[in-house]
Amino acid sequence: MTITDSLLKVRTELEDNLRNLLGIPVYLIELDAFALPCGCSGATINIRGFTVDDIEVFEEHILKFLEEAALKLEIQPSFLFARLIPGTAEVASLNARMLCDRCYRDFARGEGKQPRPDIYVLKLEKNR
Ligand SMILES: [Zn+2]
Repeated sequence: MTITDSLLKVRTELEDNLRNLLGIPVYLIELDAFALPCGCSGATINIRGFTVDDIEVFEEHILKFLEEAALKLEIQPSFLFARLIPGTAEVASLNARMLCDRCYRDFARGEGKQPRPDIYVLKLEKNR
């Protein structure tokens, strides 16, 4: 399967899973794979109709779906987080990111679920 076929398949599956779980029409408007100059790489899933409250209620299930999605895209699911629209409860995106050493040190220093106002951490493996 090509990378674009994988992205299409994972986008549809994750959207179906989240809709079934939440019972509301969340939209995964775009799924992007990315590579950053620092060495981080991963996938960003832009989402609409989804709030921090939804995450807090269904966190365990959402984490599982996101881990599965990341693995299908051959992304090690060691850092999974939601990006929030600042000053609101709206989730802008779900993200799976394989951190470079420098970004790992920055994020590993953070405490709690929201080390920054725009980040909600679903999972961060601190093991290196
Ligand atoms: Zn980085």
